Amino acid sequence: MFVSGGAADEGGDGEILRIPWFSVGLIFAKIYTMDYFKGRIAALATMHGKEKVIAPVLKEIGVNVIVPERLNTDAFGTFTRDIDRAGNQLEAARTKAHTALALTGLDLAIASEGSFGVDPQIPFIQSNLELVLLIDTKNNLEIRGHHRSTETNMNGSYVSTIEEACELAEKWGFPNHAVIVRKNERSKRHIYKDIVTHADLEQRVMKLLKRLFTRKVYIETDMRAHRNPTRMQNITKATEDLIKNIKSLCPECSTPGFVVVDVKRDIPCNLCGRLTDRPNMLVYKCLKCDFSQDSPIVDSPASVDAGECEYCNP
Ligand SMILES: [Zn+2]
Ligand SMILES: [Zn+2]
Repeated sequence: MFVSGGAADEGGDGEILRIPWFSVGLIFAKIYTMDYFKGRIAALATMHGKEKVIAPVLKEIGVNVIVPERLNTDAFGTFTRDIDRAGNQLEAARTKAHTALALTGLDLAIASEGSFGVDPQIPFIQSNLELVLLIDTKNNLEIRGHHRSTETNMNGSYVSTIEEACELAEKWGFPNHAVIVRKNERSKRHIYKDIVTHADLEQRVMKLLKRLFTRKVYIETDMRAHRNPTRMQNITKATEDLIKNIKSLCPECSTPGFVVVDVKRDIPCNLCGRLTDRPNMLVYKCLKCDFSQDSPIVDSPASVDAGECEYCNP
């Protein structure tokens, strides 16, 4: 009843009625979201300055953010691979959020977790997937925001001279983006982080190169949020996605977090008529009352070319 889609069903002599109902829906959506969150304090599980970008966005739903002091998020995994991540991206974010809840005694927590890898849509291109998770134990809610971007400087290479190290680092956005120098790609020892000046970079590379039997050292981009402005931008966008999902209310029970959980693929091949892999519907579902609603994907064709058909073009 409170989504814009409902307003279109109000029938007949349309335009004059539709606009007020639509507006009323939006106002209610705002009030309900505010009811859930306004004036509450969320514990943000970070030690890498993510509050700088997450806190301002959360203000939009009236939530204030605190960062628990004794939280060591590195214990749950590091990008430098010296500590392996506990579980997948979502599980790691959940663990961080629950730790922040336990440390603070609060009933609202935010955690974020990034991952890097080849983009699923574009082969050979690196991408960054950021997840921002909200856990609300008072209302028993878990809502996520995502942002995938090919905007990432993630990289690493062996170098044998200081000049080579500087040249690569600058190509990757140094010193605005930090770099890490290490003995080799896999070693869990001799890892130098927080390199943000040329003097420091030169000194670290030289020190490792001076070691006996060492001809090359490994230099890589620092992917920790506070050392990587590009990643911070992606975390901002994931937080905005979280807010969008929080503001999406279930039409049945008005609980925040009415989000896409699946797609339907009902578009036939124009030659053999069998259903193809092309999605044409988004399936929204309420995680509280299980109410679900399909929403057509804009501009979906009535049929697709046989070239996209698994049977006609295997
Ligand atoms: Zn076909
Ligand atoms: Zn519901």
